[in-house]
Amino acid sequence: MGLTISRPDCRLLNMSSNLKKISELRRVPIVPVRGSVVFPHTDTLLSFGRTKSIAAVNSAFQEDKLIAIFTQKDPRTANPELEDLHVVGTVATITQMMSTDGEIHTLIRGQARVKLVEIIAHNPFSIGMVEEIPEKVDDSPDIAVLAKKLQELFKRSINLGKQAEIMTVMKLVAGGVEPIELSDQIASLLEIKTAEKQKLLEEIKLKDRLKAVLEYLAKEVNALEVERTISSKTQKRFEDQMKKAMLREKKKTIEEELGEMDEGGEITGEEFREYKNKIKLSGMTGIIKERAIKELKRLGEMSPNNPEGAYIRNYLDWLCDMPWSKLSSNDVAMKKAAKVLDDEHYGIEKAKERILEFLAVMKIKKENKKKDKGESHPTILCFIGPPGVGKTSIGRSIAKALGRKFVRVSLGGIRDEAEIRGHRRTYVGAMPGRIIQGMKTAGTKNPVFMLDEIDKIGTDFRGDPSSALLEALDPEQNREFSDHYLELPFDLSQVMFICTGNMLDTIPAPLRDRMEVITFPGYTEAEKFQIAKKFLWPKQLEVHSLVDRKLNISEKGLKEVINSYTREAGVRNLERNLASIARKVARMVAENKKYPKNVEVKNVRKFLGSKRFTSQIAEKKNEIGMTTGLSVTPYGGEILFIEVSLMPGKGKLTLTGQLGDVMRESAKAAFTWTRSHYYDLGLKENFSENIDVHIHVPEGAVPKDGPSAGVAITTALVSALTGIPVKRDVGMTGEITLRGRVLEIGGLKEKSIAGHRAGLTTIIAPKENKKDLDEIPEAVKKDIKFVFAEEVSDALKVALTSWPIKIKTVAKYTPMSEVLMAN
Ligand code: ADP
Repeated sequence: MGLTISRPDCRLLNMSSNLKKISELRRVPIVPVRGSVVFPHTDTLLSFGRTKSIAAVNSAFQEDKLIAIFTQKDPRTANPELEDLHVVGTVATITQMMSTDGEIHTLIRGQARVKLVEIIAHNPFSIGMVEEIPEKVDDSPDIAVLAKKLQELFKRSINLGKQAEIMTVMKLVAGGVEPIELSDQIASLLEIKTAEKQKLLEEIKLKDRLKAVLEYLAKEVNALEVERTISSKTQKRFEDQMKKAMLREKKKTIEEELGEMDEGGEITGEEFREYKNKIKLSGMTGIIKERAIKELKRLGEMSPNNPEGAYIRNYLDWLCDMPWSKLSSNDVAMKKAAKVLDDEHYGIEKAKERILEFLAVMKIKKENKKKDKGESHPTILCFIGPPGVGKTSIGRSIAKALGRKFVRVSLGGIRDEAEIRGHRRTYVGAMPGRIIQGMKTAGTKNPVFMLDEIDKIGTDFRGDPSSALLEALDPEQNREFSDHYLELPFDLSQVMFICTGNMLDTIPAPLRDRMEVITFPGYTEAEKFQIAKKFLWPKQLEVHSLVDRKLNISEKGLKEVINSYTREAGVRNLERNLASIARKVARMVAENKKYPKNVEVKNVRKFLGSKRFTSQIAEKKNEIGMTTGLSVTPYGGEILFIEVSLMPGKGKLTLTGQLGDVMRESAKAAFTWTRSHYYDLGLKENFSENIDVHIHVPEGAVPKDGPSAGVAITTALVSALTGIPVKRDVGMTGEITLRGRVLEIGGLKEKSIAGHRAGLTTIIAPKENKKDLDEIPEAVKKDIKFVFAEEVSDALKVALTSWPIKIKTVAKYTPMSEVLMAN
């Protein structure tokens, strides 16, 4: 049901004349329909299956062929009664009828709108009383205009592809159809809901009906237009793609014909050949080469514009750039090595010696390996020392001596395993880890590979970088080092790894165990002077193109730079300051100004501005309650001052100056010791009950910790309590026990160099550290007297300006605390 067609050619009964004959109401068989609305002035194909409907149609066809069609309110109602039907329907003539099994098909012609007044019989079919709704003839110009508009819009809709029966279209498009008929015919063709169609049927006023039909049709035209634009755009895109694909295929065929390309796809023939060549030159073999070829093929087969193409290219570039088999010469010539190390570095004899021994062992191992084809197990060198002591530069010299490439990678702050071992290729922006990156930079399989700041790697939830590092460094495992990005084993067994760091303590123990540690303690003033004179100054002259000018720096000038403008264990700032002087002279030369041929102290001061450092000790006088301690920091040895102040109170101990827990405990032990030795110190038995002690370690906000300040704290405390000044040029280091024993400490070498730099003349150290004296540079030993203490009292004897404290004066002696309290 529901296919609506117009059949202007069919011969119709003149129904309106029939209707006119009946006065008001007429009896007609009622046929309910669902899902469609029949309009007057239209021909509609309708099929009926319900028994009552079939009976009604059959009966009508036998008689006057008239039926009244009413649309059901709810299509699901099987046996509709009066209230189930819309009140307004159409009386129609059955013009043709055909029955098949169980159904009849009719062609009916709508005649007029009717109102269903009542149903007077129900069986065998419904018969109703209907009343015609007369159409008012309206000739107003508005109607004509609306009808014209409707007709044009209909034409447009047909042009845009609206479906309608050809004869109806021809009739409506040709014009001359009455507005009433026009409105009904087009209404019947609208693609709208049944309820909306029913409303149009019920619209008696022609003008309003025309308007409503126009509005619905306009919406349809709009939709058709949008659809057409979209489909034309889609069509165009489709055509473009087809065209491109065709061209690409043609290009491929041409290239194949010319024999220029073996594969196709994402990659051009030229690029493909380039990669093949690179793979050949890279020295890959076995599975690595197979993998590269496989990836290249994948790229070839990949559909164009596949974003993965870029990732594969990146991967192929990495594979091709890795030094799979390239080696530098690998001879260890001992004499040459010794010469290179000496030529490029002043001093550090011990380090050089250890390095040469290491190289000698390496040489022997290599020769043995050749003989018995065994594995070589090179140990890893690790240089520990403050910044600027030449760790990197000696690494460079080793590479030079061995004729190998040198690469340097910093590990400072690494917390993620992926930094060492790379990210898997599935991650966006994935890259190999630092080891593989370093190997690519080196370009050979056997470089000297320096891993800086190994003491600054950390661990967190992203995995432990040190275990990945261990795998890279461990000669047992590094023949097949696996990087997550590369996915292929890379042989690191011929790499000479050198790690560097400032401190040994923070290096993870498993790593530390595999390393041969060489410490660089820092330079004395004399060494710095020689390094600057022989290496740093000539280097700066070269860098600043001043070699021809024969620019000299006087001995005093250089010492001024070392002592007044730098305070460091290494020579980094010294080098920077010399660069600064050279730069200023270079500018004067460029500006044709008169410049000093020999840089004197006054020039240094002019070039570098006011002094940055004054000698730490020189201007200080002997003080009560203040001692000089010695410590080791990542930047080398340092001196630190410990101040003790007393005030009236109740025996409280206050500690300030960013002290760590261990140092606080040392301070408490020192306090306890003084209290238990009150008698020896000439103090009153309960002296601490009336005073508060404040211990402060100044020098910025640098955190300080460690037990080695014990002796210095005790001495400061005793000095404050007894009022005996401490000698200003005595430095001290040592841990103390509650009973006053002095225990061994570490880093005496660094501490004594720092003490020397600061101008100390005596250093008090634990007796157990006497063995370290050998390591201390001669220049330091020459200027400093070392006193080795077993007990705190040994230290007090040397550090205080007067000793022993006369016990017999105890009764008369007024400790500092009481002097303070009396005031
Ligand atoms: P580090 O790696 O220990 O921080 P560097 O190797 O970078 O120190 O050294 C800083 C600068 O000092 C470099 O220019 C280096 O050549 C120079 N230098 C350090 N020690 C010496 C030395 N003993 N002889 C010559 N130059 C040195």
